[in-house]
Amino acid sequence: MKVKMILPALTEAESPFWRPIKYSLFPPLGLATLAAYLSEDDEIDLQDQHVEKLNLDDDPDLVIIQVYITNAYRAYKIADHYRAKGAYVILGGLHVTSLPLEAAPHADSIFIGPGEDTFPKFLTDFKNRAPQKTYRSTDRTLEKIPPIRRDLIKRNLYLVPNSIVVTRGCPHHCSFCYKDAFFEGGRTFYTQEVDDALAEIDRLPGRHLYFLDDHLLGNAKFAGCLFEGMKGMNRVFQGAATVDSILRGNLIEKAADAGLRSLFVGFETFSSLNLKQSNKKQNLEKDYIKAVNRLHSLGIMINGSFVFGLDDDDKDVFKRTVDWGVKHSITTSTYHVLTPYPGTALFQNMERQGRIITKNWDLYDTRKVVYQTIGLTAEELENGYWWAYEEFYRWNNIFKASMQHSSYSHKLKHLFYAGGWKKFEAVWNFLIKTKNLNNTLPALETVLSKIKCTNKQNSASVTNSLEESSISTIY
Ligand code: SF4
Repeated sequence: MKVKMILPALTEAESPFWRPIKYSLFPPLGLATLAAYLSEDDEIDLQDQHVEKLNLDDDPDLVIIQVYITNAYRAYKIADHYRAKGAYVILGGLHVTSLPLEAAPHADSIFIGPGEDTFPKFLTDFKNRAPQKTYRSTDRTLEKIPPIRRDLIKRNLYLVPNSIVVTRGCPHHCSFCYKDAFFEGGRTFYTQEVDDALAEIDRLPGRHLYFLDDHLLGNAKFAGCLFEGMKGMNRVFQGAATVDSILRGNLIEKAADAGLRSLFVGFETFSSLNLKQSNKKQNLEKDYIKAVNRLHSLGIMINGSFVFGLDDDDKDVFKRTVDWGVKHSITTSTYHVLTPYPGTALFQNMERQGRIITKNWDLYDTRKVVYQTIGLTAEELENGYWWAYEEFYRWNNIFKASMQHSSYSHKLKHLFYAGGWKKFEAVWNFLIKTKNLNNTLPALETVLSKIKCTNKQNSASVTNSLEESSISTIY
């Protein structure tokens, strides 16, 4: 059977503000994971429109398309194209799960939720010529999932070909997050067996890994065993975790020992009213500065995530957030305009209040205002968002943030990482054009290599005081 798997480009990937490098980071791991359930005899063509031109002139028997909110209209067009040619088309992903009725007319079958249980079932039904219209995931497990078909990934087109996911979902329930909608109807957070995760890591070449898990430290027992198993593997890795997991116990030290060198942290907002609006309980009354200092003391760089436009935000929120990031040496910042994705509690609340001003999903790219704001106007919000990016990544601010680290190696690491990411667009574009992106991996591994931290003592005292205070934290 001829199978075509497609990740259509997000709409913003074609906007004038598009940074090609931002969309050439990670291969389509979800599709490669599903491909593992196909037969060895199947002829599979996996295409990612972010990094290559789609070939739509072929005649596959089965087409599988992954749908996000801002590629939805494009995905539907591609689906209609292939259905008109007689192919069997299936659609799945976050947007299909949120709005199955919208997606259904463009597909022969739709998939709701993760596909590990439903996709193999579909394949059996398809072979028996009795596929269903809707497949809804209910049995959530990562036990005995077949190895990801990484042979289908064109590694040279990506900066981070070694992306990996060892858990699904997250133990938290932030109101703006897709997670609850996607995992509704079954377990919302589950992990691989530790040995399976280690085996997957072992299969990846080179040293660098990027864990794309929503919350790598979300299950302390699993993460502790994983990091224990990774010690001695000589890996350097990046991942994401919450503020409270950084402050709790000594998991973050174990992660650093295993090779964690940079962490995406969802700070989102400094306002407790905003945290309550977002149901982000895990950040409430947490000491962000302690979390930052703890990461710095372990030589871990920080990618801070911040949301603008929550109801308690005012005109000063942009400057406050940028100044805080620079002052506390946040390595890179990711800013978002609050976006109420359909299916989330935030969307439902706003819809109830009559605050959703457009349902043009192309605009839901976290750069545009799609709802009625409260503390500041839509114009102030969008302008403030762009101002924050520009300000945070001015050379003088990058220098200022870098130079506050205690060791020279940490200063340099910060400078190379933040400057390299934001200030050399022409070099990235050249590497993309010449299909040489993954040749930069040795340089990335060098920047992420272990540094000697001069404030270990500081780290120990932070650890102790946090362990004491963690007794009274949530859970
Ligand atoms: S912590 Fe992150 S992944 Fe988990 S629910 Fe909140 S936003 Fe989503």
